Amino acid sequence: MFTQPAGGLAGTERGKQAQALIRNCVHCGFCLPACPTYRVTGNELDSPRGRIYLIRQLVEGSPASATTREHLDRCLTCRACERACPSGVEYGRLIDLGRELVEERVPRPLPQRALRRAFLELFSRRRLFGPALRAGQTLRNWLPRALRLRVPPRPSTVAHLPLPRHARRVVLLEGCVQAGLAPAINTAAARVLDRLGVSVQRLGSEQCCGALGHHLGFTQRALEQARHNVDACLATVDAGAEAIVSSASACGLMIKDYGRLLADDPHYSEGARRVSAATRDLAEVVEVQDLVRVGIARGTGPRVAWQAPCTLQHGQQISGRVEALLEAAGCTLVPAAEGTLCCGSAGTYSLLQPALSEELRTRKLAALTLRGPDLIATANIGCLEHLRAASPVPVRHWIEIVADSLAGG
Ligand code: SF4
Ligand code: SF4
Repeated sequence: MFTQPAGGLAGTERGKQAQALIRNCVHCGFCLPACPTYRVTGNELDSPRGRIYLIRQLVEGSPASATTREHLDRCLTCRACERACPSGVEYGRLIDLGRELVEERVPRPLPQRALRRAFLELFSRRRLFGPALRAGQTLRNWLPRALRLRVPPRPSTVAHLPLPRHARRVVLLEGCVQAGLAPAINTAAARVLDRLGVSVQRLGSEQCCGALGHHLGFTQRALEQARHNVDACLATVDAGAEAIVSSASACGLMIKDYGRLLADDPHYSEGARRVSAATRDLAEVVEVQDLVRVGIARGTGPRVAWQAPCTLQHGQQISGRVEALLEAAGCTLVPAAEGTLCCGSAGTYSLLQPALSEELRTRKLAALTLRGPDLIATANIGCLEHLRAASPVPVRHWIEIVADSLAGG
């Protein structure tokens, strides 16, 4: 698709990047059936191709409106379209650019800006989110049903992390909301890794990975958080940690992208590149053969339906590993259709676009539960909480299921 950057973008680096990204799109439309929002609304402007047209208009300086912004807002950034595109269009980069441009050209009304800022502050600061969550849990029985479903019950006491005792060490990131909502996930990860000969350490000074700010349009804030985390992570990598591990696939994806996001920063480009290269999703650290060696009998565990988060399968392009790990841990995988469809969580999307989000969740849960699994497994806290709120069966992080199998094996 040819485009000629105009206005403030003519002759700029950003304009050239936009031109190169848009050029790869040949209008074929193969991406349309893969797009969750297009499948729900049937509107071309809610499809990847339609949004690329809108972004081209922004790049060419054509008038933009709140409707342009709304169609870009409705994108889940799930990147299912990238996997379906035969021309290699980097849609994820394009939507980031389109959102930056539309924020500049069509400023949001004050209430919208205030709401987005409030979500950013609440969900990216553990010191705010933790007390707010505990208050919600205390008052849970008196909350309106819609809100009550979003507040999980207070977890039972979580065991401490095992003490470091192995030569092999990794950094296990705590995350922002996961530390409050489901602390048992990282405890399970630490126990599994300890059993397999790897100790975990915490960063202590970790901040939000920046994904939340990045997708809400607070780009500078996201980059500040990235720089802070680069400093914190590099110190541990230099001290011998073999990887920086995230048990939340959305956070892992963001950190793997630091190298690109900070490529033009003369002080941070090299450090960010090294941190991204050292970052692993938890599923890349636990090896199937390690679980096989433990000798858990196949088919003795629960029947599990696997929900691959978009950030894992489309973003990090990790497919098949968790399924193999669950089977090695004795689970029976229950086939589910719509494996590439987003569940509708997508960070704060479920709060900002509730109708689309709930429709996608309904479709996803129907596919996941069709064959009567005992559990649904996933790899990202956002998907987990979003599905849990409406699921007829428990939804757990896959590492918790593996940890339970190991404890009984
Ligand atoms: S599949 Fe790729 S090339 Fe075809 S319309 Fe979609 S983004 Fe463009
Ligand atoms: S990222 Fe997801 S929601 Fe957005 S256009 Fe691509 S497939 Fe559709």
